Amino acid sequence: MGKREAFTAVQSVTRGVVKAGLDIVLPPQDPFSKDDKDWEDIQYLDEPCCDICGFPFEYAVGAGALCAGCLASPPRFTSARAAFIYDDGSRDIILSFKHGGRTENLSRFAAQLRRAGRRFLPKADFIVPVPLYRTRRIKRRYNQSVLLGRALSHITNASFETEALRRIRATESQGGQSAAGRKRNVQGAFTVVEAAKERLSGANIILIDDVMTTGATLDACASVLLRSGANRVDALCLARVIRDKRSQKDSQDKDSQVKDWQNKDVFDGKS
Ligand SMILES: [Zn+2]
Repeated sequence: MGKREAFTAVQSVTRGVVKAGLDIVLPPQDPFSKDDKDWEDIQYLDEPCCDICGFPFEYAVGAGALCAGCLASPPRFTSARAAFIYDDGSRDIILSFKHGGRTENLSRFAAQLRRAGRRFLPKADFIVPVPLYRTRRIKRRYNQSVLLGRALSHITNASFETEALRRIRATESQGGQSAAGRKRNVQGAFTVVEAAKERLSGANIILIDDVMTTGATLDACASVLLRSGANRVDALCLARVIRDKRSQKDSQDKDSQVKDWQNKDVFDGKS
């Protein structure tokens, strides 16, 4: 029995238990959900895109083409893909899932993740959700990435693995931070638990998160997984923030100036 078969056998036994537990934790589905209306304005992501991070290109520029960001500093994950753009058309559906506890779209989300990850999912051994820090998980009652990862594992051959990756440090919210700030914020925030290292050794891993912004969180997770012996790490997200690359440099500079000023202000106020 191979690594994956053994794990799947255990998982299929525990699956019923997990499901039963979920029904208690999660609120019942909204019988008046306007599902299809919620999905009307979604902008789906697909090829052509950057071969590594999935940044959409307006037209095909040849196989293996990379965006400016990945050319300048390639991330540690092999590739990342998102199902749709995080914008006005998808914000409500994501936020109601993330903070409102609405899970009626979960199977649709999983199908979209499978579509977005079709290139690397067939070779995947494990699906690993990006973990939340303990206190944040308690506050939110559940980790939305865990729900996405579990739903995806039900429609693929990869095993669901929630115990391997831990967030060992509470990080500030990534919202409103510059790319450099996001990177600093998640450095050293994740670790692979000792007991899981043998299991993950040589494995192809799919990281799951809800929203990708700069990819800093995924990069930090990929880094510790690879250091622990994983063969390859790809990332799958429900939605991705798309900023115009030409204006990104300017806005980053502006962001970090504002942030520095804010930090100075806060620290001055506290001291
Ligand atoms: Zn890229």
